[in-house]
Amino acid sequence: MPLHPGERGCHYPSRVRIDLHTHSRVSDGTDSPEELVRAAQAAGLDVVALTDHDTADGWAEAAATAAEIGIELVRGMEISTLHQGRSVHLLGYLPDPTYPPLVTELQHVLEGRRHRLPMMVERLRGLGVEITVDDVLAVSPDAAASGRPHVADALVRLGVVADRDEAFDTLLAAGRPGYVGRYATSLDQAIALVAEAGGASVIAHVWGRSTSERPGEAELASLQELGLTGLEVDHQDHDATRRDRLRAIARNLGLVVTGSSDYHGTGKTMHDLGVNTTAPEEYARLIDAAATASAASGRPTPQVIR
Ligand code: AMP
Ligand code: ZN
Ligand code: FE
Ligand code: FE
Repeated sequence: MPLHPGERGCHYPSRVRIDLHTHSRVSDGTDSPEELVRAAQAAGLDVVALTDHDTADGWAEAAATAAEIGIELVRGMEISTLHQGRSVHLLGYLPDPTYPPLVTELQHVLEGRRHRLPMMVERLRGLGVEITVDDVLAVSPDAAASGRPHVADALVRLGVVADRDEAFDTLLAAGRPGYVGRYATSLDQAIALVAEAGGASVIAHVWGRSTSERPGEAELASLQELGLTGLEVDHQDHDATRRDRLRAIARNLGLVVTGSSDYHGTGKTMHDLGVNTTAPEEYARLIDAAATASAASGRPTPQVIR
């Protein structure tokens, strides 16, 4: 069933401000889902998506707040995946969160995160940093998805580093001495799972934090055949040149173009709500894609809260 029958191709006025990538304390942001949705309205946004890493646990609280204060909420998630040896973050919008294969796979990723935590602590202790698992849990009591940013927060609280950036730069980034890898879904599988769950998928910060412009157009075309809906083009990790090149690829292939903040509260600077936004017609295409996937799979996708 379409998400909102009769609204296909609907036109949002161009002043509408849409931010489709944010994190709450349920993963590595610093706002609760309620605080995040209120902050989105205060920032002048008309539409916001909650996209915590690998979990839908924040959806209910965010939806209740959105309905109460009258802001449009898109429920999503940012899935940790691997593609040809590289980490790729896949934004899944409006998947049925009860679709069993998706539930199983997210549990696998979250277990990988839980298992990594004591390994990271051991690694750091081996480097002479007196940190415990409890120190990390104490700074992230609401997190369903534990991660390196929480270890970074514990290191800040212990006085080892000044902020998250210093923690990543000196210890936690790939190639630094405190780095430990974790399980991730294959990108192909994650795209298929989102589509089968009646959702739409967008590759987050496609060429962010990378020296190479990969995946390139041919790879993106193959991913589109697997069900990929769009590319996050306007993101702080992309300079103007990369945005232009990605926009051209999206136009060639007919992929949806999104722009978003990747807001993490105070956990990430330069990522304020609304710092990048998505064009209303691209947003409408994204919602249509989820409706089409839902009709094909028979999985009921969550309604956009209006
Ligand atoms: P994880 O998924 O636990 O391996 O952690 C990766 C997450 O850490 C990413 O999704 C980013 O949100 C965050 N991150 C990566 N680098 C930095 C950084 N330099 N400063 C703050 N957060 C970062
Ligand atoms: Zn994050
Ligand atoms: Fe990401
Ligand atoms: Fe993110």
